[in-house]
Amino acid sequence: MKLTPSPYRGRSSTSAATQSQTTAPGFSNSNRQKVIAATGAPSTSRANQSIYHLRCGLCGHDYGCNGLDIKARLCPSCQSGAPGEPLRERGPMFDFGV
Ligand SMILES: [Zn+2]
Repeated sequence: MKLTPSPYRGRSSTSAATQSQTTAPGFSNSNRQKVIAATGAPSTSRANQSIYHLRCGLCGHDYGCNGLDIKARLCPSCQSGAPGEPLRERGPMFDFGV
């Protein structure tokens, strides 16, 4: 009989860091800005950061935000936040060595 609750759900999301991951898809910060997905594109405003696809929980605006700024991000559309970083529709795969 097998009742294994499969310790590995998805990829590595639940294994190592279980603390609130501000870059994890589904995370919403206190301003209701929600992480949709990592785009893998390099941030234009911060070195060594990549852009995440965020969506405003209030107005539904989609925009890009680097990983460091997610936690305190304000919607550029309805909360007077800084303009979003460019979002490129690229699919889930990363380009290695940009
Ligand atoms: Zn908004």
